[in-house]
Amino acid sequence: MKILKSLLAFLILAFSHSWADGDLKLQQVTEDVYAIVGELGNRSAGNLGNNATFGFVVTTAGVVLIDPGGTYQGAQKIDLLIKEVTDKPVVKVINTGGQDHRWLGNGYFQKQGAQIIASAAAVSDQKARTQDQFIGLGNLVGDEGLKGTDAVYADKIFEQQLEFKLGDTRFELHYAGQAHTPGDSFIWLPQKKVMFTGDIVYVERMLGVGSQSNSKSWVRVYQTMAAYQPRYLIPGHGAATNLSQANKDTYDYLVFLRQAVTDFIDNGGDMTEISNVNQSKFDYLLNFKMLAGRNAQQVFSELEWE
Ligand SMILES: [Zn+2]
Repeated sequence: MKILKSLLAFLILAFSHSWADGDLKLQQVTEDVYAIVGELGNRSAGNLGNNATFGFVVTTAGVVLIDPGGTYQGAQKIDLLIKEVTDKPVVKVINTGGQDHRWLGNGYFQKQGAQIIASAAAVSDQKARTQDQFIGLGNLVGDEGLKGTDAVYADKIFEQQLEFKLGDTRFELHYAGQAHTPGDSFIWLPQKKVMFTGDIVYVERMLGVGSQSNSKSWVRVYQTMAAYQPRYLIPGHGAATNLSQANKDTYDYLVFLRQAVTDFIDNGGDMTEISNVNQSKFDYLLNFKMLAGRNAQQVFSELEWE
């Protein structure tokens, strides 16, 4: 009976736990390094705009959070997961880019006293798209889910590089150019060989090439990131992984897509027939149906200007 009771208690705990953290999954990557993995689909009232992967590092002097989530309440959910691991406060928040889920949770953590850090390119992208992002989130997450969310920009901005040490842990922030968005940067922990890539890397799901992206530059930025040979890689979307999966799901796809669209143009194809570009090699990636055609279209218009 006692065993049954504790089993029941465990089940209730497990259930309430999976309910309480919404759709975020906590994943330990290595000592003191964690990924928080959000849904692979779109923003919704259920996920509060947290349809991406975030991460944090516990140091002796506090927590560094990589990306604060897509809304104020989404940030709160992230904070709850951090508190399952440590009672140290979040002292620094890094925005790896300008997309909503990379920065619209800033206000929550700033209120707790955290410093917000981002590349200059990310901040200007955030400023340029603030209104669009609020409209988009209003449609997908809803007014209730958006409550409390304000546009809060970084209080520390860097151009190409920023290094700091917190406790004993060294952090290197690198901005190497436009990728999925104009301001995507990556974060390298040299002692741990850990790389946080933000939207430079997508695994498990198909990446999106949008009007805010530059696929040519993205390939170069990816190469710069990969040259560090990370042992652990926390992507912008999907679970924490290694470089070889990132190569397969992001780099190989980008290179393939650019080549396939180049060949299509060389063979006299025009935009109206773009769906003829065969991408089935990558149909194992989630969101393939929704994004493959759009990606080809975007790369087509990019190539026209290159
Ligand atoms: Zn993203």
